[in-house]
Amino acid sequence: MDLRQLEAEPTAEEREAIDARLGDDPARDGTHFAAGFGRSRRHLLLPALQAAQARVGFISEGAFGYVCKRLEVPPADAHGVATFYALLSLEPRPPRVLHVCDDIACRCRGANELIADLERTTGDENGAAWLRSPCLGLCDQAPAAFLTVAGQSPAERLFGPVTAEQARAALAGDTLPEMRRQRLPQAGGPSLRLLKRVGVVDPGSLDDYLAHGGYLALRRAFELGAEGVIREVLDSKLTGRGGAAFPTGRKWEAVARQPARPRYLICNADESEPGTFKDRVLMEGDPFAVVESMTICAYATGCEQGFVYVRGEYPLAVERLQGAIDAARARGLLGGDLMGRGVRFDVEIRKGAGAYICGEETAIFNSIEGFRGEPRNKPPFPVESGLFGKPTVVNNVETLVNVLGIVLEGGAAYARIGTPQSTGPKLFCVCGCVERPGVYEVAFGATLRDLLALAGGVAGDRKPQAILLGGAAGAFVRGDELDIPLTFEGARAAGVTLGSGVVMVFDDSVDLPSVLLRIAAFFRDESCGQCVPCRVGTVRQEEALLRIVTGRPRGSTTAELALLDEIGRAMKDASICGLGQTAYGAIESAARRLRLFEEGKLR
Ligand code: SF4
Repeated sequence: MDLRQLEAEPTAEEREAIDARLGDDPARDGTHFAAGFGRSRRHLLLPALQAAQARVGFISEGAFGYVCKRLEVPPADAHGVATFYALLSLEPRPPRVLHVCDDIACRCRGANELIADLERTTGDENGAAWLRSPCLGLCDQAPAAFLTVAGQSPAERLFGPVTAEQARAALAGDTLPEMRRQRLPQAGGPSLRLLKRVGVVDPGSLDDYLAHGGYLALRRAFELGAEGVIREVLDSKLTGRGGAAFPTGRKWEAVARQPARPRYLICNADESEPGTFKDRVLMEGDPFAVVESMTICAYATGCEQGFVYVRGEYPLAVERLQGAIDAARARGLLGGDLMGRGVRFDVEIRKGAGAYICGEETAIFNSIEGFRGEPRNKPPFPVESGLFGKPTVVNNVETLVNVLGIVLEGGAAYARIGTPQSTGPKLFCVCGCVERPGVYEVAFGATLRDLLALAGGVAGDRKPQAILLGGAAGAFVRGDELDIPLTFEGARAAGVTLGSGVVMVFDDSVDLPSVLLRIAAFFRDESCGQCVPCRVGTVRQEEALLRIVTGRPRGSTTAELALLDEIGRAMKDASICGLGQTAYGAIESAARRLRLFEEGKLR
């Protein structure tokens, strides 16, 4: 593509797809309340590129040039954005693409064999291709695959557990057999708070949501008043469930105190941490709860415009959330006069496009604004200067859904659940070599052993070799450390992190060195490349690890481990964001805690 001379014209169907997306600009049609939102239309760059690709399978030169012209974005600048996202392609691609997960949870459940089969049996398919993919967020139904079909409806489908035969059928365009329904091991359980409606309520029906207690929390919030809601959230001691565990009430209070307007709310639904899928389950199973809890947050903090930033591999979550947003708007539960209280709030969905780093809050701002999804330096913090430079609340899906119970039962009652330092219920994504992978809700304080028991124990009566807590950015514990309490303080005392709630179990048959290599490759791929310690460190880390694992250390294994430590320290101390800061965590824990690289431990 010659960026100095984009002469090609879009095809009629590309033009139609792009016009439909840009013509649908909420900044122009008045459904957005946030003044200033529409000054530049650059924020529509990613949606417009996605629309063009969805129609023909890739972003052609004609489509790219047309988007640049319509949005007045310099082509070189837009090229940097388009090439940032793994799901976008500026190169011709067949209309049918199957992304097959080869990440660590799926490898425990047959992904390697599936991929080997596809490598053996597929060639240059007519109009179809398959690609390896990092974690697709369907670890409870591993091995997972994500199918995109240009110009069709539905254009995307996430499914699993997928067999080689089904993968070939998907590539051939045959009708796919009905996949197993969502795994909900605790569905309908009487003690559930966060998952109580998942698998019970009809996710497409506002009336059913209302019949199951929906929108009582928003009514109660209006009775409490904005300050009263924040008081309850402070009293609950709710902390963020996305990994950082920042006190939610303090974040809300800080935004509510800002003089600047407008203020924005972002629901971070870009869960891309390998092994994490709890937010998908909430969005697919109880989408109105996400919309209601966002509305409460917006009321409390004075935000008039909200965004749900959903990872691009979650088409069903997007569909159900959009249905919930539309239904709520039609019933006056979103819009200019919520429940006749004179409060304004509306929500728009923005889809990610395959970038792990876009789960970082400031990277989301850049992504929504139409720039490369690179994290920003902090300060300034988002509560002062976030999306479009305005005060912004960013909360993860699970964090927000907790607010419904807090508002209804009171913060003090909520704080009595769990432990004094880790309050409330918590969702854990139990996956890997367990009998019943899935999302499990427990009160903080349950142990790893309790959680494993809920998931039916290690599959096939094998022994647990190691458990990865917190995903690729987390750390391993040994298979005999099952009495670690799953609380923030318990994890801290054990020298690990709960992160986003991943509990990935590896039995004694799993080749852990290959798991570590996959984690190292993941960080190398997903580094946004903005800062040197992370960009270079993740590459050097993978190289050193590969030399150790393949038995070709430079000097000695001890020297390579010392090098890994040095690289890890540099990444931790000098990286801009959490990706670089945590990229060595799992490898370090495997070396120190599992003593994986000691004599005789490597196979
Ligand atoms: Fe990008 Fe890595 Fe730096 Fe984060 S730490 S900003 S991912 S290069």
